[in-house]
Amino acid sequence: MKRLIFLGPPGAGKGTQALILSDLYQIPHISTGDILRAAVKAETPLGIKARSYMDQGELVPDDLILDLIKERLRQSDTRGGWILDGFPRNVSQAAFLAELLQELHLAADCVLNLEVPDEVLVERLLSRKRKDDNETTIRRRLEVYHQDTVPVISFYSDCGILKAVNGNDSLEGVTTALKAIIDQA
Ligand code: ADP
Repeated sequence: MKRLIFLGPPGAGKGTQALILSDLYQIPHISTGDILRAAVKAETPLGIKARSYMDQGELVPDDLILDLIKERLRQSDTRGGWILDGFPRNVSQAAFLAELLQELHLAADCVLNLEVPDEVLVERLLSRKRKDDNETTIRRRLEVYHQDTVPVISFYSDCGILKAVNGNDSLEGVTTALKAIIDQA
Protein backbone atom coordinates (compact mmCIF):
# COMPACT_ATOMS: atom_id res chain seq x y z
CA MET A 1 0.00 0.00 0.00
CA LYS A 2 1.65 3.21 -1.17
CA ARG A 3 0.25 6.68 -1.62
CA LEU A 4 2.73 8.68 -3.63
CA ILE A 5 2.86 12.22 -4.97
CA PHE A 6 5.21 13.00 -7.84
CA LEU A 7 6.52 16.54 -8.18
CA GLY A 8 8.88 17.91 -10.77
CA PRO A 9 9.04 20.15 -13.81
CA PRO A 10 7.49 19.28 -17.18
CA GLY A 11 9.79 16.80 -18.89
CA ALA A 12 11.28 15.49 -15.63
CA GLY A 13 10.03 12.00 -16.41
CA LYS A 14 7.21 11.88 -13.86
CA GLY A 15 4.78 10.21 -16.25
CA THR A 16 7.25 7.57 -17.41
CA GLN A 17 8.39 6.70 -13.91
CA ALA A 18 4.86 6.80 -12.50
CA LEU A 19 3.74 4.27 -15.10
CA ILE A 20 6.58 1.87 -14.24
CA LEU A 21 5.96 2.17 -10.50
CA SER A 22 2.21 1.87 -10.90
CA ASP A 23 2.80 -1.51 -12.51
CA LEU A 24 5.38 -2.55 -9.94
CA TYR A 25 3.34 -1.63 -6.86
CA GLN A 26 -0.02 -2.40 -8.52
CA ILE A 27 -1.52 0.98 -7.73
CA PRO A 28 -3.35 3.31 -10.12
CA HIS A 29 -1.40 6.07 -11.85
CA ILE A 30 -3.50 9.22 -11.65
CA SER A 31 -2.21 11.81 -14.11
CA THR A 32 -4.24 15.01 -14.39
CA GLY A 33 -2.44 15.70 -17.69
CA ASP A 34 -3.62 12.34 -19.10
CA ILE A 35 -7.16 12.88 -17.80
CA LEU A 36 -7.27 16.35 -19.37
CA ARG A 37 -5.81 15.18 -22.70
CA ALA A 38 -8.44 12.41 -22.87
CA ALA A 39 -11.16 14.99 -22.15
CA VAL A 40 -9.84 17.28 -24.89
CA LYS A 41 -9.77 14.40 -27.35
CA ALA A 42 -13.31 13.33 -26.48
CA GLU A 43 -14.47 16.97 -26.59
CA THR A 44 -16.22 16.69 -23.23
CA PRO A 45 -17.31 19.93 -21.50
CA LEU A 46 -14.13 19.70 -19.36
CA GLY A 47 -11.98 19.17 -22.44
CA ILE A 48 -13.52 22.09 -24.29
CA LYS A 49 -12.84 24.40 -21.34
CA ALA A 50 -9.33 23.06 -20.65
CA ARG A 51 -7.98 23.04 -24.18
CA SER A 52 -6.87 26.64 -24.71
CA TYR A 53 -5.06 26.75 -21.36
CA MET A 54 -3.17 23.57 -22.18
CA ASP A 55 -2.27 24.73 -25.67
CA GLN A 56 -0.79 27.90 -24.20
CA GLY A 57 1.16 26.16 -21.46
CA GLU A 58 -0.97 27.71 -18.71
CA LEU A 59 -2.44 25.80 -15.79
CA VAL A 60 -6.06 24.85 -16.20
CA PRO A 61 -8.12 26.75 -13.57
CA ASP A 62 -8.38 24.98 -10.21
CA ASP A 63 -12.17 24.71 -10.37
CA LEU A 64 -11.83 22.34 -13.35
CA ILE A 65 -9.32 20.13 -11.55
CA LEU A 66 -10.36 19.93 -7.91
CA ASP A 67 -13.69 18.11 -8.30
CA LEU A 68 -12.08 15.74 -10.74
CA ILE A 69 -9.42 14.73 -8.20
CA LYS A 70 -12.00 14.46 -5.45
CA GLU A 71 -14.06 12.04 -7.55
CA ARG A 72 -11.01 10.08 -8.64
CA LEU A 73 -9.67 9.53 -5.11
CA ARG A 74 -13.07 8.26 -4.00
CA GLN A 75 -13.09 5.45 -6.55
CA SER A 76 -12.63 1.95 -5.19
CA ASP A 77 -9.47 1.12 -7.16
CA THR A 78 -7.59 3.68 -5.05
CA ARG A 79 -8.08 1.71 -1.82
CA GLY A 80 -4.72 0.01 -2.21
CA GLY A 81 -2.88 3.27 -2.85
CA TRP A 82 -2.14 5.58 -5.79
CA ILE A 83 0.43 7.68 -7.59
CA LEU A 84 -0.52 11.29 -8.22
CA ASP A 85 1.30 12.74 -11.22
CA GLY A 86 0.77 16.38 -12.21
CA PHE A 87 -1.30 17.18 -9.14
CA PRO A 88 -0.94 19.25 -6.97
CA ARG A 89 0.57 21.87 -9.24
CA ASN A 90 0.12 24.96 -7.08
CA VAL A 91 -0.21 25.67 -3.37
CA SER A 92 -4.00 25.97 -3.42
CA GLN A 93 -4.26 22.50 -5.01
CA ALA A 94 -1.86 21.17 -2.35
CA ALA A 95 -4.01 22.67 0.43
CA PHE A 96 -7.14 21.21 -1.17
CA LEU A 97 -5.51 17.77 -1.35
CA ALA A 98 -4.41 17.95 2.28
CA GLU A 99 -7.99 18.68 3.31
CA LEU A 100 -9.42 15.97 1.06
CA LEU A 101 -7.02 13.35 2.44
CA GLN A 102 -7.89 14.35 5.98
CA GLU A 103 -11.56 13.93 5.12
CA LEU A 104 -10.85 10.47 3.72
CA HIS A 105 -8.68 9.62 6.77
CA LEU A 106 -5.69 9.04 4.51
CA ALA A 107 -2.15 10.38 4.32
CA ALA A 108 0.43 10.43 1.55
CA ASP A 109 3.43 8.21 2.32
CA CYS A 110 5.91 10.05 0.21
CA VAL A 111 6.30 13.13 -1.98
CA LEU A 112 8.95 12.49 -4.62
CA ASN A 113 10.53 15.51 -6.23
CA LEU A 114 12.27 14.70 -9.51
CA GLU A 115 15.01 17.25 -10.13
CA VAL A 116 16.23 18.03 -13.65
CA PRO A 117 17.99 21.22 -14.86
CA ASP A 118 15.96 23.52 -17.14
CA GLU A 119 18.25 23.16 -20.16
CA VAL A 120 17.87 19.37 -20.10
CA LEU A 121 14.08 19.74 -19.81
CA VAL A 122 13.79 21.94 -22.89
CA GLU A 123 15.81 19.46 -24.90
CA ARG A 124 13.73 16.51 -23.72
CA LEU A 125 10.42 18.26 -24.32
CA LEU A 126 11.40 19.38 -27.80
CA SER A 127 12.21 15.81 -28.77
CA ARG A 128 8.93 14.48 -27.33
CA LYS A 129 6.67 16.13 -29.94
CA ARG A 130 3.42 16.25 -27.99
CA LYS A 131 0.93 18.80 -29.31
CA ASP A 132 1.79 21.35 -26.57
CA ASP A 133 5.54 20.75 -26.91
CA ASN A 134 6.62 23.68 -29.09
CA GLU A 135 9.36 25.99 -27.88
CA THR A 136 7.09 28.91 -26.85
CA THR A 137 4.74 26.69 -24.86
CA ILE A 138 7.62 24.81 -23.29
CA ARG A 139 9.20 28.06 -22.05
CA ARG A 140 5.84 29.16 -20.66
CA ARG A 141 5.28 25.79 -18.93
CA LEU A 142 8.68 26.11 -17.28
CA GLU A 143 7.86 29.65 -16.14
CA VAL A 144 4.54 28.47 -14.72
CA TYR A 145 6.38 25.59 -13.03
CA HIS A 146 8.83 27.95 -11.32
CA GLN A 147 6.13 30.40 -10.35
CA ASP A 148 3.29 28.10 -9.22
CA THR A 149 4.68 24.60 -8.65
CA VAL A 150 8.04 25.24 -6.96
CA PRO A 151 6.23 26.68 -3.89
CA VAL A 152 4.50 23.29 -3.53
CA ILE A 153 7.95 21.81 -2.73
CA SER A 154 8.24 24.00 0.38
CA PHE A 155 4.63 23.19 1.27
CA TYR A 156 5.68 19.54 1.59
CA SER A 157 9.18 20.09 2.97
CA ASP A 158 7.51 21.29 6.17
CA CYS A 159 5.81 17.94 6.76
CA GLY A 160 8.88 15.71 6.43
CA ILE A 161 7.74 13.33 3.68
CA LEU A 162 9.47 15.14 0.81
CA LYS A 163 12.31 13.32 -0.95
CA ALA A 164 14.45 14.70 -3.75
CA VAL A 165 15.52 12.38 -6.56
CA ASN A 166 17.99 13.18 -9.34
CA GLY A 167 15.94 12.89 -12.53
CA ASN A 168 18.93 13.64 -14.74
CA ASP A 169 20.00 10.00 -14.92
CA SER A 170 19.11 6.97 -17.04
CA LEU A 171 15.52 5.77 -16.94
CA GLU A 172 16.57 2.66 -14.99
CA GLY A 173 18.77 4.69 -12.65
CA VAL A 174 15.86 6.95 -11.74
CA THR A 175 13.51 3.98 -11.21
CA THR A 176 16.05 2.32 -8.88
CA ALA A 177 16.47 5.52 -6.86
CA LEU A 178 12.71 5.99 -6.57
CA LYS A 179 12.13 2.38 -5.52
CA ALA A 180 14.76 2.61 -2.80
CA ILE A 181 13.01 5.63 -1.31
CA ILE A 182 9.49 4.26 -1.67
CA ASP A 183 10.37 0.93 -0.07
CA GLN A 184 11.67 2.81 2.97
CA ALA A 185 8.64 5.07 3.26
P1 ADP B 1 3.87 18.25 -18.25
O1 ADP B 1 4.21 17.83 -16.85
O2 ADP B 1 4.79 17.66 -19.26
O3 ADP B 1 3.70 19.72 -18.42
P2 ADP B 1 1.17 17.22 -17.94
O4 ADP B 1 0.67 16.10 -18.75
O5 ADP B 1 1.33 16.98 -16.47
O6 ADP B 1 2.49 17.63 -18.67
O7 ADP B 1 0.21 18.50 -18.10
C1 ADP B 1 -0.12 19.03 -19.36
C2 ADP B 1 -0.98 20.28 -19.18
O8 ADP B 1 -2.22 19.94 -18.53
C3 ADP B 1 -0.37 21.38 -18.31
O9 ADP B 1 0.48 22.22 -19.05
C4 ADP B 1 -1.64 22.09 -17.80
O10 ADP B 1 -2.18 22.97 -18.77
C5 ADP B 1 -2.64 20.97 -17.62
N1 ADP B 1 -2.63 20.42 -16.23
C6 ADP B 1 -2.25 19.17 -15.85
N2 ADP B 1 -2.39 19.00 -14.53
C7 ADP B 1 -2.86 20.17 -14.04
C8 ADP B 1 -3.20 20.65 -12.74
N3 ADP B 1 -3.07 19.87 -11.65
N4 ADP B 1 -3.66 21.92 -12.62
C9 ADP B 1 -3.80 22.71 -13.70
N5 ADP B 1 -3.49 22.34 -14.94
C10 ADP B 1 -3.02 21.08 -15.13
